[in-house]
Amino acid sequence: MNPKPGYRGRFAPSPTGPLHVGSLVSALASFLDARAHQGAWLIRIEDIDGPRTVPGAAKEILSTLGRFGMHSAEQPVWQSQRVTAYEQAFEQLLAAGFVFPCGCTRREIADSLAHSHARHATLAYPGTCRDGLHGKPARAWRMRVPDADAAVLSFEDRWQGMQTQDLASEVGDFVLKRADGEWAYQLAVVIDDADARITHVVRGADLLDSTARQIYLQRCLGVPTPTYLHVPVVVNEYGEKLSKQTGATALDSGTPVATLTQAARHLGLDPAPAASLEAFYSDTTAQWAKRLGP
Ligand code: GLU
Repeated sequence: MNPKPGYRGRFAPSPTGPLHVGSLVSALASFLDARAHQGAWLIRIEDIDGPRTVPGAAKEILSTLGRFGMHSAEQPVWQSQRVTAYEQAFEQLLAAGFVFPCGCTRREIADSLAHSHARHATLAYPGTCRDGLHGKPARAWRMRVPDADAAVLSFEDRWQGMQTQDLASEVGDFVLKRADGEWAYQLAVVIDDADARITHVVRGADLLDSTARQIYLQRCLGVPTPTYLHVPVVVNEYGEKLSKQTGATALDSGTPVATLTQAARHLGLDPAPAASLEAFYSDTTAQWAKRLGP
């Protein structure tokens, strides 16, 4: 199938372990949305978080996706090879006065929040280094968020509906470059989505809370904002998001249709028994298109 020009979607796994049912649900949702729009579906490996990246996991994820019939329309992008692009964007934001160095340790931030007299103390960065480092060495670099009304961002999520977040009170100035020198996810994801000309972001609802920050960065950098769709996350028996840490096990890709059927049910689809991957995808793409457009 030749993709129609226009739609470009992506799946962006972090290689912190093998694909599990939670990440498969996000992969499937983005894949079906791209198919429903006859668009391009791309894979990006988010491997800049050095401490969390597991050697070999990215290759394993790519081959598991392949066994499920999901192939990137273009060469997968590896974030670890894109640091020059992040550096340039960071310089642009720095030159425009959006970025400041922060010397606070996590402990200092937690203490200052604990001593705040706000009745409903939020976890927002308290702004300690906004106007100077107070003699401390720079650790991280933060994006200054506007005060008051300008900090309230709204967007229409295609699954979750209208979302509003007040960046000033709910998030505060957020990290772009971490104390360990690594680029923060928020910056990398915005630059990567923009450079890949992603038009539709489909991912897990655990990232709903990051979206306003990403839209804010897009505006400050002058790049387009894609549409967003956040699917419910798969949780374990304790209500925790499935991840390697919460006991997610690797997927059975020996019986791909059965495993995909389970993931599709989680998306509220009702796949008919299918004898092949092709049959499974044409049925579920039609169901997805009916529910979520176009
Ligand atoms: N790498 C992120 C994750 O695995 C997803 C980022 C995104 O889709 O924006 O949770």
